[in-house]
Formats: sequence, C-alpha cells, structure tokens
Amino acid sequence: MEDKKPEQKKIAAAKTFKKIMADHFLQIDEATRDPKRLVAWCTSVGPAELLQAFGFEVYYPENHSAIIGTVRKAADYIPYANAAGYSPDICSYLTADVGSYMQGYTPLTKAYGIESIPKPDVLVYNTNQCRDVQDWFMWYSREWNVPCMGVETHRNIGEVSREHIDSISGQLKNLASGLEEVAGRSLDMDRFRESVRLSQRCSQLWEKVLRTGVARPSAITFFDGTIHMGPAVVLRGTQTAIDYYEMLLEELQARVDQKVAAVEGERFRLYWEGMPIWGKIRALSEQFLELRTCVVASTYCNSWIFNQLDPDEPFESMARAYTELFIVRSDKVKEDYIARMCEEFGVDGVIYHDAKTCPANTNCRYGMGPRLTERNGKPHLVINGDLNDLRCYSEEQAKTNIEAFVEQLAQG
Ligand code: SF4
Repeated sequence: MEDKKPEQKKIAAAKTFKKIMADHFLQIDEATRDPKRLVAWCTSVGPAELLQAFGFEVYYPENHSAIIGTVRKAADYIPYANAAGYSPDICSYLTADVGSYMQGYTPLTKAYGIESIPKPDVLVYNTNQCRDVQDWFMWYSREWNVPCMGVETHRNIGEVSREHIDSISGQLKNLASGLEEVAGRSLDMDRFRESVRLSQRCSQLWEKVLRTGVARPSAITFFDGTIHMGPAVVLRGTQTAIDYYEMLLEELQARVDQKVAAVEGERFRLYWEGMPIWGKIRALSEQFLELRTCVVASTYCNSWIFNQLDPDEPFESMARAYTELFIVRSDKVKEDYIARMCEEFGVDGVIYHDAKTCPANTNCRYGMGPRLTERNGKPHLVINGDLNDLRCYSEEQAKTNIEAFVEQLAQG
C-alpha cells in the first residue's frame, strides 16, 4: 500500500460550490450597473448581517485578494501598491488588491467575464482582525470618494466582559445610523433578525462540516476547508449558504459513516495554525497526501464559526460573535483554544504558518509553539511563508521541513 500513490478524494459538491460562487460575483456585478441596487464592501469578519438587512449586495475584498493569491498573480501587482507608499511588510491582501486595481487587473475577468471589482456605495470594516483592513478600505474611500465606516474592536482580549460587548454593540448601532443615511432607509429589524438567523444556521452547519475532521480517518482536509469555506465567508446570512452546507455535510457524513478517508491510508493527523498559503494550496495538499498525512483542522477555517449569533438579540449577539473570535483574543486564550482543538481532533502535531505580512494571524512569534508542545507533548513545525506574496516562501525549504517533520512523527 505504501508504494501505491494515494488518490486525492474529490468532493462532489464542488460543482455546486463553483456555481454559487460564480452567481455571487455576477449578482454583485449586476448590482453595480443598477441604480436601484446598493453595494457594500465588508471585511471578512465584518458586520455582514447588518449590511444585508439594509439590502446591500455585500462584496468581500479579502476573498477577492485570496483569489489573486490562488492564481499566483499577487507578486506581479504588490509592487504597484509599494510604489504608492504601502510597505511590502504590510498585509499582502491589501497590497495585492490595491496594486491589481491600479493596473486594471482582476481574476474575476478570466473566471466570470467581470470587467472590474464592484464600486461600492459604502465601505464597512471591523478592525477585529487587524488595522490593515481599515487602511485598505480608506484607500478605496479616497479613490472613489465613497463613505468608509466601521467598528473599532478591542484587541488581545482575555475574558470578554460586559463592557466589551456594550461598547461593540453601541458601535454597531451607530454604524446602523450611518448606513441609514447611505441606504436612504431605516433599518428593518425583521430583516436584520432574519439575516442573523440565517447566518447562525450557516455557522452551525459549517462547524458540523469541519467536525467531520474528528472522524478517523478524517473526512475532510484543511485544504478542502480553505476552498469550501467560501460560502461561510461571502454568503453567510443567505439561504444559499445553508442549502450548500446541508448538501456538503451529507456528503461528508456519508464518508464518516463508511470510513472513507479524505487522505487515503491516513497515518498522521495535523493541525494548521495561521493563514493558508493561497498560491500553494494544491502543492501542499498533494505533498501531505503523498505523506499520507491529513491536516484535519485549522484555526483559519474555524474562524467563520459564529455560534453566538442570536436573532432575538441581533446587535448584542453580533457584538459577542465578532469579539469572541480567536484573532481578537489574548495569547493565553489562543493557546487554550489550540490545545482543545488538538485534543478534540486527535492530532499528532501542529504546523504554524509564520505569514510574513500578517502578524495578526500568525501566532508562533511569542513562544506559542514550544509552550504548547511542552503542555500537550505534540511536536510542532514552523513554516515561513505568506498568504499571498510567494516571494516570502521557499517551497523547497518548506517541502523538506514537512518531510522531516512527518518522518519525526513516524519515528514516534
Ligand atoms: S488578518 Fe492578516 S491577512 Fe487578513 S486582512 Fe489583516 S493583515 Fe491581511
């Protein structure tokens, strides 16, 4: 069996996934040409449900920039943003996206025949993930002279307190007033509650999808997750996302029931901490497959689980969901979280991606790896790279290090 090359297990729902993602982009593109429809940009863990309640078509530039990374065009365009004063050291989603725009490039043209990214009526951020999103949106705000508003979140939070929630919920209410002016209508609370309810359901299903990784063998890999998380990011708050995850879950649950492995002959199970390396998803997925090692879980894919959402308390529960998020928390909370994940998913080791341009989502720079290894006995490996800028990633070095790491696991 060791000699036979393992096969990549394909997900049948991928066909539907492609269709709904295409529809998402085409629908927004259409809206930009219809004066009666409104478009808002939103950060990936921003207040999407509120925007939907006002009837905005919601576009997520991080998703767009991840596509630039996936098609390996980021390094071609980052230098244009650098030349405009945006450092090569800051978020390469920001620099790849802004640089591409400056040069009139978008991968949406080749994928869907869409000429350019949608010009919004408003740009809405939440700094819960990092400051870069605010700077990113402000660039477009100046470029197009459109309003930019958002929520400034507390960071490095240990216990989430009543004061944190009240403050964020208050900011969300202020944001709603600002959006009323842009939309020219008042907030429809029923629609708001419905959007929160749909988002909550999407989140519950997405969590169940990811938890098929608990099974032995795992029904899903981290690399599958980075693709199929698309609807949880850009379509949460819609029935489309719910229908999709019900379908995907059924397929993966059947794998669990029949003990069908995502990675044929699964020998080892790993946890991925940090951003994906978008331009190398396929290469890494193939390498782990050949090593018969399944990356069964990740902090990244889990970041779109917002179980705190509650339609009965839309403002407060949104404040809670978007503040209890991993990325906003202190290192102690993060360490406890990863330790719990390692245990629940029964992993043999942890891979940390030190993403050069994303300190916010890199958690191995302050001793987390050794601390956690000492705590749970699971070895760890740090890979230096980046989410989008492949000039920061040495493929050969990473490949060798991963091989050596798995070899180390094999030796017990
Ligand atoms: S969290 Fe990281 S990748 Fe995401 S927008 Fe912020 S700096 Fe960029």
